[in-house]
Amino acid sequence: MGKDGLNSITNQIVIAMIAGLVVGIALYFIMPHAAYLKTYLVNGFFNLIGAIFISGLKMLVVPVVFVSLVCGVSSLSDIKAVGRIGGVSVLFYLATTAIAITIAVSLATIVSPGEGMKTSQMAGEAMVKEAPPFVQVIINMVPKNPVAALAQGEMLQIIVFSIVFGIALTMAGEKGQRISNFFNSANDVVMQMVIIIMKIAPYGVFCLLAKTFSELGFDVIMPLAAYFFTVIAALAIHFAVVYGLIIWVFTGLNPMLFYQKMRGPQMFAFSTASSNATIPVNLENAEHRLGASNKVASFTIPLGATINMDGTAIMQGVATVFLANVFVVDLGLGGYVAIVLTATLASIGTAGVPGVGLIMLALVLKQVGVPVEGIALIVGVDRLLDMLRTAVNITGDAAITCVVAKTENALDEEVFNDPKAGEIKA
Ligand code: ASP
Repeated sequence: MGKDGLNSITNQIVIAMIAGLVVGIALYFIMPHAAYLKTYLVNGFFNLIGAIFISGLKMLVVPVVFVSLVCGVSSLSDIKAVGRIGGVSVLFYLATTAIAITIAVSLATIVSPGEGMKTSQMAGEAMVKEAPPFVQVIINMVPKNPVAALAQGEMLQIIVFSIVFGIALTMAGEKGQRISNFFNSANDVVMQMVIIIMKIAPYGVFCLLAKTFSELGFDVIMPLAAYFFTVIAALAIHFAVVYGLIIWVFTGLNPMLFYQKMRGPQMFAFSTASSNATIPVNLENAEHRLGASNKVASFTIPLGATINMDGTAIMQGVATVFLANVFVVDLGLGGYVAIVLTATLASIGTAGVPGVGLIMLALVLKQVGVPVEGIALIVGVDRLLDMLRTAVNITGDAAITCVVAKTENALDEEVFNDPKAGEIKA
């Protein structure tokens, strides 16, 4: 890595991430002998900086999505494009999720994790919440009160309101133009705020990861190793093969450049385990590093963070097969089809925040008759898997953003092909 490389914020975050990981794991072993480290360093300093960093990211989500989407929609010359972009992206999001879960279920069937495992190994109570019914998810997309939607960060509601607002701006002609100009300037301002957060990210990422890894129970992984590593293998296949192919086939561009430019947002997703919190960074990256225009990315990135969860679906597929093995439930072909369908729908209903994928797993388990209490069995290893699957989730959002941008003739290939484009200096 040359001097130039060290100057880039992405490389600094990589270094911070590795350092956080190493320090965290070291602390995991040292802490039992030095309680003050836990009190002052992990729960004190690391917690403070990490929490401020996450709050800073979350602070930007609503302003970025609202302002950027209003800009995006009002810049579309014809309103039909909104429907087209929406339709194509939802189609791709659903298809990639279905592929993800098919890979997961196939791999899990081959590896067959959990076979012969005694159910008596089950510990603790499952924390299961009821998943909202699908129809309700659709009804809830329209906000009764847009201010409440913004205040509570209801992503789908904000998306719907921003689209209607953006369309109305165009329809209002000259008067709308003044407000459009205001939003365009505001967009530049919120993007600068994203850059500020990215500049402090190395410190935030270091503290978050050091804290998380100092608390992870590594000893719980071994009894569940087959489950744990099957999820990781399925995530890796989907990540490396499916997204690469999607970029290559549908945009004709070099997948390696895509992966290289996704490192930044992936690290944010990994350390926060939240697609939602990663929206501002993923959006900034999609526009300035990948070359997707604002009119597409401002719509597809927040939408993807809300409804497209390939990594989560993968975990749910493997978990269902694993628990079916543990509880000796015969899934049959119908069961596998049901898993693919319900996990795809569950992924739409899963909010992009830490750990929700596990709650939505209840929906899939119920559908195929596997005891929901089984969730208690895998909860111990979920944190690490959550971090990994969130990185996959947001990579999917960016890949589909490139594809939709390409179909709309809104992908700046010069930017995409320039390895240094949009790079933020530390
Ligand atoms: N943490 C995931 C995300 O934000 C959701 C989940 O699988 O729990 O994308």
